[in-house]
Amino acid sequence: MERIVYLDHNASAPIRPQSAEAMASACALTGNASSVHRYGRLVRQAVEDAREEVAAMVGASPAGIVFTSGGTEANNLAIRGAGRLRVLVSAVEHPSVLRAGADLEIVPVDDDGVIDLQALASLLEDETGPALVSLMLANNETGVVQPVAAAVEIAHRHGALVHCDAVQAAGKIPVDMMALGLDYLSLSAHKICGPAGTGALAVADGAPLAGVAFGGGQERGRRAGTENLPGIAGFGVAARLARTALEEFAGLARWRDGLERRILDLAPAVRIFGAASERLPNTSCFALPGMAGETQVMALDLAGVAVSAGSACSSGKIAISHVLEAMGVDKAMAVCAIRVSLGWTSTENDIETFIRTWTAVRATADAAVRAAAAA
Ligand code: PLP
Repeated sequence: MERIVYLDHNASAPIRPQSAEAMASACALTGNASSVHRYGRLVRQAVEDAREEVAAMVGASPAGIVFTSGGTEANNLAIRGAGRLRVLVSAVEHPSVLRAGADLEIVPVDDDGVIDLQALASLLEDETGPALVSLMLANNETGVVQPVAAAVEIAHRHGALVHCDAVQAAGKIPVDMMALGLDYLSLSAHKICGPAGTGALAVADGAPLAGVAFGGGQERGRRAGTENLPGIAGFGVAARLARTALEEFAGLARWRDGLERRILDLAPAVRIFGAASERLPNTSCFALPGMAGETQVMALDLAGVAVSAGSACSSGKIAISHVLEAMGVDKAMAVCAIRVSLGWTSTENDIETFIRTWTAVRATADAAVRAAAAA
């Protein structure tokens, strides 16, 4: 069978076999983590082992880990559960932050996708009242890494709490919640090569958190509902492996940079977004002017290469990426963006196949433009 060239790790990273095995073993366990009998205690132990691994991956305290159904729920929980009336978020946050509350105040980013710290400080100075600042560590579309430590310093000076969506950063770059001084941090298992449908919110000692699910005392009363043992067990193993694979992950930058150099040689009109900023080592988001991202994604898919478009097509209408829009990219360019994201299954051969296939896709587009001009 043809090997799929999967270059969409930021959408979901293929599960590590050890994580899948841990899930299968967990499925074989009988019992509820809340039960006091021996079966319950075994399940509880498996949950607590995973909690330690997840906490260790991001320098958090195990007692502060609240398991959730994923990054979306963790982001919702932080924003709604922190209990702050004012919530300030950057313009490039994931929709699970941007749509988690009403009346969010938006902090702009510059052309390179980096948050405007001056604007953050002004917003916090302008109005008093207890605030929550929510800022992602790394952007899912461009890979741009935000100056979170500096933002925390400003926010804390103004008495604000800080939540960080570290869903894309964890497992890709070192993340240390305590060193960053964060109050809340969100994680998702399927972005670190664990299972989809599992995540966590790490909560610093003393940070307030009102639960948003009721009817059970699980997770220290912060998230009601019987724990998803297979998901949590798979998450724990993925977190352990992610911690030891950081150096290997950093090495992906060489392939990513090589890919970008070759794309630019082939098509100098290509624009790479966030290239001037610190970025995740695995992510490249670029636009080929004149060819819609969706068209490129479909043509690449037909050739067995999986990447994402920088814009999403919903109900037949192409929606421009809010991230690129916030970076001041004009609409005609933004619709042409695609995202290539590498990971642990990627090979040098995948990069070659991508370049070969993308070159063919581009040639088809050029031919179509020439034919249209001649008609
Ligand atoms: N935050 C970021 C930055 C993401 O990229 C994603 C998923 O793409 C999420 C949150 C949501 O995570 P989940 O898919 O686990 O709900």
